[in-house]
Amino acid sequence: PGALVWFRRDLRSFDHAALHHALLAGTPVYCAFIFDSPILEGLPRDDRRVAFIHASLGELAAELEALGGHLLVRHGDARAEIPALAAELGVATVYANEDYDPAAIARDEAVAETLAVAGCALKLFKDHVIFARSEVLSQAGKPLGVFTPYKNAWKKRLEAQPDALAPWPVDPHAAALAPGRSQLPSLQEIGFDGADLAAAGITPGMRGGAALFDAFLPSLGDYGTGRDYPARDGTSRLSLHLRFGTVSIRHLVRTVLQLSARGQAGEGGATWLSELVWRDFYQMILYHHPHVVHASFKPVYDKVDWETGPAAEELFAAWCEGRTGYPLVDAAMAQLNTTGFMHNRLRMVTASFLCKDLGIDWRRGEAYFALKLNDYELASNNGGWQWAASSGCDAQPFFRIFNPVTQSERFDQEGDFIRQFVPRLARLSAKAIHAPWLHGGVDGYPAPIVDHAEARQRTLERYEVVKARG
Ligand code: FAD
Repeated sequence: PGALVWFRRDLRSFDHAALHHALLAGTPVYCAFIFDSPILEGLPRDDRRVAFIHASLGELAAELEALGGHLLVRHGDARAEIPALAAELGVATVYANEDYDPAAIARDEAVAETLAVAGCALKLFKDHVIFARSEVLSQAGKPLGVFTPYKNAWKKRLEAQPDALAPWPVDPHAAALAPGRSQLPSLQEIGFDGADLAAAGITPGMRGGAALFDAFLPSLGDYGTGRDYPARDGTSRLSLHLRFGTVSIRHLVRTVLQLSARGQAGEGGATWLSELVWRDFYQMILYHHPHVVHASFKPVYDKVDWETGPAAEELFAAWCEGRTGYPLVDAAMAQLNTTGFMHNRLRMVTASFLCKDLGIDWRRGEAYFALKLNDYELASNNGGWQWAASSGCDAQPFFRIFNPVTQSERFDQEGDFIRQFVPRLARLSAKAIHAPWLHGGVDGYPAPIVDHAEARQRTLERYEVVKARG
């Protein structure tokens, strides 16, 4: 009896755990993707992520056809669509790759139950990360809540189990694919208008992911320093491709380790690998501590009393729209609002500004990022926000508060990034651009909505409740 491979956040036709296992197990092997209506509901019609997925599916369908298979794309609630498709095709097993988001886990359990009634099995495989769930633990066998010991244990595990990086080949077994014609509804048919990905600098699909990685590798050695300056092209920009699996995490890690072994990755290689381990770390945290989706990782931080009411709403709106009067914060929010990307340094600066300068609950900022970020990933976004709010694992201590002007002077010294995203400030000198109000202000650009020194004091008082245990 045949098998169905259910693609989700793994939109590629190479090094694919679920597809590999399905091809080995039986024939014919069908491939499908469901535009899951509960996820799509509430997204704007020009959502870039939906456009990215759609374009990536076009490429995936063509690649599967070239291998002798095809891709079926449906729109509806996956809980019903997958069992219906499995019955229609008469397959005995559905193969998919694991997803560690609590909502996805619940969905997969529901699908598995419905399939079981019809005598069909759902088989899940690790694919999205190098090590998942409890594969990396402390010496005492417990999940780790601090990054550095986690990273050390992760590396040890990899030394002991190097085949964790081995690819899951597809091509040699492609004869098992069921031939046929792909079916891909248009974006309009699923209720979307599309988005100008090229204008946002995005090339979708496996081709886009591979091109980015190739372009990044020559500068890998400089990543350690280059990554902190938003005006420079110092990071890989692969987050969107990692999110939707148009690149393989195993391939990325293997490549960096091979370059390192040959002495060609420099210090930057080790730093970049660390970032990929952060990604595994937050997926593991989410799996073991699903309460973080709604609450602080450290419960005592839920006692922090955030600002609410009309004045706070006005501050929140100013933050979202990039009208805080702090040029680096406003430029960062403009980058997010116009391109769907924000540089990591700026994610830290803007998140800190919302929680620690405006006194607004990190969950509000997290939700705004979730709506806007092309690379939105629940585990990393939640981890990043809780880090900035000091409520998370391995967080920034609450008394260490980013100064938005100092950050600007350090990481956008010449003001190039600010000039790019806040054209009104383009004529200011490198000296004046970080704090225009100290240099006579600029017509049409707001004065700071809060005084940083006063806000800092209020935040220290606000966090008093956690001091004893913070
Ligand atoms: P690179 O610097 O080239 O790093 C390579 C890859 O490593 C990234 O693509 C990403 O997959 C991973 N990575 C890097 N930094 C981190 C990190 N701190 N935590 C987890 N993984 C990391 N990343 C997301 O992918 N999705 C999010 O929704 C997200 N939200 C964030 C929110 C906040 C408040 C903060 C502080 C960080 C967030 N990050 C998120 C992490 C990080 O900012 C982005 O991964 C990074 O900016 C993406 O750019 P890049 O691909 O050029 O990264």
